[in-house]
Amino acid sequence: MSAFKLPSRPLIVTIDGPAGAGKTTVSKLLAKKLGYRYLDTGALYRGVAVAAKQAGISAEDDPALEALCGRIKLDLIADDDGLRLLLNGADITRQIRTPEISMMASAVSARPVVRAFLLATQRDLAAPKAVVAEGRDMGTVVFPQAEAKFFLDADPAIRAQRRYEELNPKADAGPSLTTVESEMRQRDRKDATRAVAPLQPAADAIRIDSSRLSLAEVVDEMLRHIATIA
Ligand code: C5P
Repeated sequence: MSAFKLPSRPLIVTIDGPAGAGKTTVSKLLAKKLGYRYLDTGALYRGVAVAAKQAGISAEDDPALEALCGRIKLDLIADDDGLRLLLNGADITRQIRTPEISMMASAVSARPVVRAFLLATQRDLAAPKAVVAEGRDMGTVVFPQAEAKFFLDADPAIRAQRRYEELNPKADAGPSLTTVESEMRQRDRKDATRAVAPLQPAADAIRIDSSRLSLAEVVDEMLRHIATIA
């Protein structure tokens, strides 16, 4: 049994923040503790990036991106290993986690046509509530009415180290720490300075710095806050 009081009605919980702050681990753990679904909205932007790459469409070509969005369907399916992403029925879960697709996702996510397309998808997926939604603009744009909003951050060097360890489960198999850190900073800069839905905390978000906390401690802090919601 949880040591925390669970909410008496289904809530929308949002977790925003930069890359490597621990959002994914925290969101999954929190969703499990609450018995909620986990909504990974970054995966949807990555899905659009894979579709654009497959079709040979550049991230600057708005008309082509708009036409592309009109003919793709993205589904997030929960299974024992986490979430699987389907693009028009084909499983692209593995393809979305490469550094190339991370940069492409950041580029397509700055285009209003892509954001408009995914806004509806995200709201449809969260319609039954009881969801932990992870992203960059969950608390500001997609779910401004969410009952619990968190903004998770950490020192850039710590975030880079976490990302590096995630990408290199077997030491030395992937990019160097320096490459991971410079790509991460570049992506954060793009995400925070874009004109539409830039990465920023909602005015009513609770900010948590995970630099010196374990991710389990972060989840406990979130649960303590959620327990205060009537
Ligand atoms: O969270 P993740 O690293 O998978 O997200 C990939 C990219 O998708 C981010 O760098 C960001 O540009 C974009 N994104 C976004 N809005 C969201 C989620 C992700 O712009 N809600």
